[in-house]
Formats: sequence, structure tokens, C-alpha cells
Amino acid sequence: MGLCYSEKRRKFGVTKGWAEFKRMLNRELTHLSEMSRSGNQVSEFISNTFLDKHNELEIPSPPPKSRERKRRQQQPLMTQISGTRKVTHGPGVSGGCSVARFGVKTDLEDLLAKDLENVNKWGLNISRIADHSHQRPLTCVMYAIFQERDLMKTFKIPMDTFVTYMMTLEDHYHSDVAYHNSLHAADVAQSTHILLSTPALEAVFTDLEILAAIFAAAVHDVDHPGVSNQFLINTNSELALMYNDESVLENHHLAVGFKLLQGENCDIFQNLTKKQRQTLRRMVIEMVLATDMSKHMSLLADLKTMVETKKVTSSGVLLLDNYTDRIQVLRAMVHCADLSNPTKPLELYREWTDRIMDEFFHQGDRERERGMEISPMCDKHTASVEKSQVGFIDYIVHPLWETWADLVHPDAQDILDTLEENRNWYHRMIPRSPSPPFYESGGDKFQFEMTLEGEDGETAHARQSPDEECRDQTSSPAET
Ligand code: AMP
Ligand code: MG
Ligand code: ZN
Repeated sequence: MGLCYSEKRRKFGVTKGWAEFKRMLNRELTHLSEMSRSGNQVSEFISNTFLDKHNELEIPSPPPKSRERKRRQQQPLMTQISGTRKVTHGPGVSGGCSVARFGVKTDLEDLLAKDLENVNKWGLNISRIADHSHQRPLTCVMYAIFQERDLMKTFKIPMDTFVTYMMTLEDHYHSDVAYHNSLHAADVAQSTHILLSTPALEAVFTDLEILAAIFAAAVHDVDHPGVSNQFLINTNSELALMYNDESVLENHHLAVGFKLLQGENCDIFQNLTKKQRQTLRRMVIEMVLATDMSKHMSLLADLKTMVETKKVTSSGVLLLDNYTDRIQVLRAMVHCADLSNPTKPLELYREWTDRIMDEFFHQGDRERERGMEISPMCDKHTASVEKSQVGFIDYIVHPLWETWADLVHPDAQDILDTLEENRNWYHRMIPRSPSPPFYESGGDKFQFEMTLEGEDGETAHARQSPDEECRDQTSSPAET
């Protein structure tokens, strides 16, 4: 009665299931790392990125070479956040008040209009939108979403202010970073827009919560330098100093996203009440901080607990009657959107994979140059792209999306199906080698979760037995 999910979790002792989950994960990762060199790399990648390993001491890195020193000087300081770059916008806003269709001027407007017809579909082609909008996917996708949801009217956002802010935000994403650029931001914003419309959550969220979630997704990686938190910490960067090594990038994205609202004609929240602004800010901070991948496991634990204790109304909609539960779902939603590449149509997923590997390898090159240890999956000479995708799905993406799918059952079934097909595609693409290591043995799909369900008797809902699940997997037509 009136207990929030985390309280219930304590009350009903679900934490015991979680301890087991973590134990299993550790065991699985250890096993994986012992199987082969590439298995070891995948295991390292997962445990370094998605587990909160607070923070083993690093061997001091050698002094930066002159090129690095120069780059370091260009890294944004807090003082630079308070005086964020002034940007002049090309196409889009003219004279501060006239706004082009979709917020961006383009000579390919008809093509862009056609692309944006899919704004309410999972699998929108963002890179095509970028090509048809003078590389302004974030501005025009946000414009289309806000129009679709009538948010400009609801929150009295002047159109020119909206476009000025979105362009400024987009300009603060780095176009020379392969993955964490404004395409990724547009993708996460649009994915969040779709997840907000899932039938199981119909009319659950207020307009302000919807505004906050889409805004959070749009800013969630702004000014990303293309290297990880750990890299920033290991290189004693200004950002790591600024945020005391804690969620360094995520804190920075938030600071920049909010700071940019103070630019000329940029305050899209100018007509919100003080209370609305405060609430929105609090929610956005919670959502963006939850995109720190080292928080993944605890977010997933909380989500599982919520699924186990979920309440639905008579019309089948989730009952989320307090702030704690609603923000928890919103944090999970943006996190799911951030980890949604493998759930998209394969050709889009493959594009994102190329981009992230490109960015990882670039970081690896910088680490090699500096004589640092190369981060897992960042060494272009040894990384296995296919194996890393299978591991990433099996250990991170599938457990997360499966839990989300349980929460909004049966809304996310198609998404889960695509994820499994894509996983099998990457599995088939793993180059064969003479000694068959972990991923080449065949029907190991989702073995981790299978084992989990087998050993953790606390799950509330009916599941296939491990045997049934195993049979299903091995007879999957995609696997043959
Ligand atoms: P973010 O950096 O905020 O976009 O969080 C997403 C993180 O998840 C990335 O930095 C990667 O560590 C990981 N990730 C996302 N997509 C992939 C992918 N396709 N392959 C491997 N890792 C991924
Ligand atoms: Mg991020
Ligand atoms: Zn992201």
C-alpha cells in the first residue's frame, strides 16, 4: 500500500535475487574471459563499461606528448561552459523569427518530408535525414517530434527560440566524432519518443514528464569528445577533475545542455512556471545521469524489481502513482533508447556498429600513442567486432530489453524479435577459427539469462524452463 518499488524491494528481499544475478554475471564473464583472447576482450569490455568498478588505482600514465597537450588545452573547462561557444546558424532561422519547414532550410525538403513521415516508427533512418537536412538531424527530428506532440503550443515555446536552441545544441555535438554526434542524439530522442507512446504507458506521463524525457534524450551526449569516462579519468583531464571522476561525461552533458538555454533566444522553457522548470530540471538530471553505463546493473536490478511488483489498471495500463516509480521508468526508458541500436533493422544497426567501433578504435589509437594500456574493444588490431556485438547483446542489451518488454508486455515483442534476429546474424558472421572458442560453439544464445532464471527462483512471472528455452534456441531457423 503506497510503497514505492525500491521500498518493496527491501521489504520483500528481492535484493537476494540481485546478489545472485551479479554472482552469475561474474561467473559468466570469468568463463568467457578464459575461453579465448577475444572472449577475454569482450568480457573486459563488458565489465569495464557496464559494472560500477569504483575505481581501481591506475598506473600513472606517461606525460602527454605535445599533440595531446594541445588537445588537452582545448578540452572544455567549467569556465568555458559558462561562456559556451557562440555559433552562427546557417540555414534554418532567418532574422530571428522566420522558420523553415522542419526547422532547417534544405533544397531536399520533399525528401526530408518523406523521411520524417516515419517519425512515429521504430527504425527511422537518421543518417538519411542527416543527408537531407544539411547534417541537422537533431534539429529537424526534434522539430517533427515537438510538432507531432504539440509541445510548442502546450509549453508556449516560440518557434524561432526552439529552432535557435536546437541548432545551438546540435552545433555542440562534435561532427568529427564517429558515433557520439548529433545523429546519435536524434536517434535516442526519436527512440524515446516512440517508447513514450507504448500502449502500456498510455496517459501515464504528464506533458512535463514527456517534455523532460525528450529533452533529456536530445542533450544526453552533448559535447561528447569521443572518448570514455575511463579515458578522461586516466588522462587526468579537466573534465575528470571538474567532476571528481564521477559520471564525468554525463555531468558535463547536463551542464552544457542547460547552459545553452541561457544563450540569446535559446530559452525554450521561458514560459514554464518556476515550479515546472524546477521539476523538469530535476527529472532531466536524473535521466541523463542514468545514461552512465556504469549504473547499468543497478538500473536493471531496480527495473526487474519493478516488473516483479508491477501493478496495472483495469485497462491494462501500468499504474505508476508516485514520482519515484515514474522517474524510474523514465530513466530506464532513456537508457533503453541509448542502448537500442541492436533492436533496429539490421542495416541501421550495422551502421551504428561501424560508427561505435570507429570511435573506439580512434580512442585506442590515442591510448597507443600515449603508451597507455589500450581499452577493451579499442584495439583495431585485435578486436572482434562480431563477437563483441554478440556479447554486448547477450550480457547487456537483451537482459535490459527483455525486462523492459516484461514491463510493457506485450508492446515490445517486435523489438525483442528484431534484437534476437540481429544477434543471430552477428553470431553467424563470427569468423571461424581452428579452435572453437565460446561463441563458436553454437546454441549458447542467452545462456546467461537462462542460467539466471534457472537458479533464481524469485521471478514473479511464468517463464519457459531452461530446457524448453534451450530447445527453442537450438531449433531457431536463423541459427541453422
Ligand atoms: P552512450 O555513450 O551514452 O551513448 O552510451 C552507450 C554506450 O553503450 C557506448 O558508449 C558503448 O560503450 C555502448 N554501446 C552502445 N552501442 C554499442 C554497440 N553497438 N556496440 C558496443 N557497445 C555499444
Ligand atoms: Mg553518454
Ligand atoms: Zn548516448
